[in-house]
Amino acid sequence: DGGGNVRVVVRVRAFLQRELERRTRCLIKMDPISQQTTLLAPDEDEQTGPKSKSRKIIEDKKFTFDSSFWSHDTKDNHYAHQEDVYNALGEEFLDHNFEGYHTCIFAYGQTGSGKSYTMMGTPDQPGLIPRTCEDLFERIQAAENENTNVAYNVRVSYFEVYNEHVRDLLVPVTTLGPNYLKIRESPTEGPYVKDLTEVPVRSIDEILRHMKNGDASRTVASTKMNDTSSRSHAVFTIMLRQIHHDMETDETTERSSRIRLVDLAGSERAKSTEATGARLREGSNINKSLTTLGRVIAALADPKTLRPGGKRKEVVPYRDSILTWLLKDSLGGNSKTAMIACIAPSDYDETLSTLRYADQAKRIRTRAVVNQDQMS
Ligand code: ADP
Ligand code: MG
Repeated sequence: DGGGNVRVVVRVRAFLQRELERRTRCLIKMDPISQQTTLLAPDEDEQTGPKSKSRKIIEDKKFTFDSSFWSHDTKDNHYAHQEDVYNALGEEFLDHNFEGYHTCIFAYGQTGSGKSYTMMGTPDQPGLIPRTCEDLFERIQAAENENTNVAYNVRVSYFEVYNEHVRDLLVPVTTLGPNYLKIRESPTEGPYVKDLTEVPVRSIDEILRHMKNGDASRTVASTKMNDTSSRSHAVFTIMLRQIHHDMETDETTERSSRIRLVDLAGSERAKSTEATGARLREGSNINKSLTTLGRVIAALADPKTLRPGGKRKEVVPYRDSILTWLLKDSLGGNSKTAMIACIAPSDYDETLSTLRYADQAKRIRTRAVVNQDQMS
């Protein structure tokens, strides 16, 4: 049975240099037993936003998630390494892919909270995407060595949603400028990107090379908040086909699964980056995908969205943004889905909004099925 709730985990990162210099206090506590995450109220002088007499009294806020990854202090016994995140989430999701399920893991959080570190990581500290790819090819290699009568076929695609446009990251940027792709919807496959490049890959090295090229062409614009902040949503997809031939019955069956790994744009609101002009317009469009994602999550998490028979009414506003339209299946349909809420250690307002978002996502149920076809 593929029915299940969206898995929601939270990860807090270490202080960055600028936070150490400001001697900020860590506002996050995580209990490794209960998986409870507490957001501590900041001291008066740590509070952001306009100082006013009508300021509300801020209290500690507690949340419970499926896992809490404490990546704040390397010296701590409970420190969650990249490997720990993979072992707790990535590995199990890859198991599901081999069983024939579609999966989706997306990282949500403000700019600088550790989304790209968690999804992509660094050459020394690879994140979920390279670890998934490595494990995938190790498993295929092991199966091929055992002669299991299964043929494997792996293809990847990589695109970004930037300013409500879809751009293929696996085609080199030409002098002709960006080539925006269109979205289509198929009755069987759901929404998809028309003419998106899908490259066959046979090894971890091939896949990493494509990923690196893709990252290089990802649109990165600096904002006042963080020079390397990315304003785009990056969607990396691995298509796994397993063609099984049964010698005795001479039957061929095919399982096809999709592994979707999404690094969302920063969730902070445009105002907090002091963005202006063109950047502000960009910001509001980027927020269009993010605010629509919020509305989609809210609608899916609302029990009233479900009809008595369990069938969903058409009130989920997937088509209001490019991102939610494309992630429709991952959010409310045929997929096992996880959200990684990435948080900074000392930003009360943004962290509270991320944790509330994540808390709501826990209530979403998807209906994943094994994608298997009889070929002959
Ligand atoms: P985002 O993609 O959410 O904007 P990044 O992944 O780029 O944020 O992280 C911001 C900075 O924090 C980077 O310098 C990154 O290397 C560092 N960082 C994030 N998470 C961790 C972590 N768990 N451990 C060590 N460094 C981290
Ligand atoms: Mg990033």
